[in-house]
Amino acid sequence: MSNQPPLPYGRHAIEQDDCDAVLEVLRGDWLTTGPIVGEFERALAKRCGAADAVSCINGTAALHLACLALGLDSDATAIVPAVTFLATANAPRMTGAEVVFADVDPESGLMEARHLEDAIARMLAAGRRPSVVLPVHLGGQCADLAAIAAVARRSGLAVIEDACHALGTVYRTSGGAPTAIGSCTHSDLTVFSFHPVKTITTGEGGAVTAREAALAQRLRQQRGHGMVRDGGAFEDHEAAFEGDLANPWYYEMPEIGFNYRISDINCALGLSQLRKLDRFAALRRALVERYDRRLAALAPLVRPVKRNADAIPVWHLYSVLIDFAAIGKTRGEVMRCLQDHRIGSQVHYIPVHRQPYYRRRYGALSLPGAEAYYARTLSLPLYIGMTAADVDRVVDRLADCIARPSAAGKAGRSLVTGAAG
Ligand SMILES: *Cc1c(COP(=O)(O)O)cnc(C)c1O
Repeated sequence: MSNQPPLPYGRHAIEQDDCDAVLEVLRGDWLTTGPIVGEFERALAKRCGAADAVSCINGTAALHLACLALGLDSDATAIVPAVTFLATANAPRMTGAEVVFADVDPESGLMEARHLEDAIARMLAAGRRPSVVLPVHLGGQCADLAAIAAVARRSGLAVIEDACHALGTVYRTSGGAPTAIGSCTHSDLTVFSFHPVKTITTGEGGAVTAREAALAQRLRQQRGHGMVRDGGAFEDHEAAFEGDLANPWYYEMPEIGFNYRISDINCALGLSQLRKLDRFAALRRALVERYDRRLAALAPLVRPVKRNADAIPVWHLYSVLIDFAAIGKTRGEVMRCLQDHRIGSQVHYIPVHRQPYYRRRYGALSLPGAEAYYARTLSLPLYIGMTAADVDRVVDRLADCIARPSAAGKAGRSLVTGAAG
């Protein structure tokens, strides 16, 4: 057992000014939605280059609001990459829409345009039309978004980016200008999460950035019970409500909505954290570069995920692909060995179509890219507060774990020296 400090696979970084910002709200007049929510939304929209941003209680609620704002219902079908967190598929399901899982690149875990085309073809063959696609920026990098948007446009699909991993990431179209993820240059809406394990945190929180102000209006309405308070700005109100418009207590519910509000407490933390995004991005990048350099010694048995040359990622995860068959160990054995050295690791993700709920609903699917990615992926520690020495410790212990004879009694190999283990 190691007596070195534990290295989790991810964690938040809270500094004194973050604490001060939250305390100031606690001492003020607003605890729930007050002026800081709007301030956070404006800062986020500005940072992403979006027309508007709407914040809410978590990233899952943000995905749900995005689906609602685009009018998804039980007649709709959403295309979702199989390698993602549950919420990307669950959010459209929460509107009643059906989900079709798309395959992903086995080396990057990203859904590319060809996978989207394949999913659309499968649907058309079954006599169904897709309504929306939700590309996921796995680990912080994105696929070729311009190509995905072109396929979506041709097939009449809306695009919601699940950018819960990718705040700060920049996408550069070949020949085009670089655009920030969240600007919605190649989508209708983009969703972020501020869960503590993500790049910046609000405690719990999420947001949707929008290209069009009208969509942001729908998001806000659905966030707050479906309620409208500003009757003057609301053109479709019922005749029965005409008389109430001028009253100070006026509120009207043209459609049912949710209570997905976030608080000023959360947004004060978010506003403070957002100011650190560039510093956090640089720190993550430096850690990733060191991992890449140090892990080269373990290639080809351990390799970083394939990089997309069009993406300038702010890395959320450091995921590697491990050839477990070649090293003669299971992923469970490697994870437990790392844990014995107090090093956390995680698997992102069990393909969603394998989950019992989706298997019951849609049957067993064959998505070979997703299966091949899942079979080899492991995420190593990456967070603010990690040092270069910590990266070295992870890589050295990973090399030991791979080389150590497995529980099955099979002799491992020493990967660093190349000698028999
Ligand atoms: C974290 C995450 C979500 C959900 O965000 P919460 O804030 O935890 O609800 C959705 N999609 C992806 C890809 C995520 O990583």
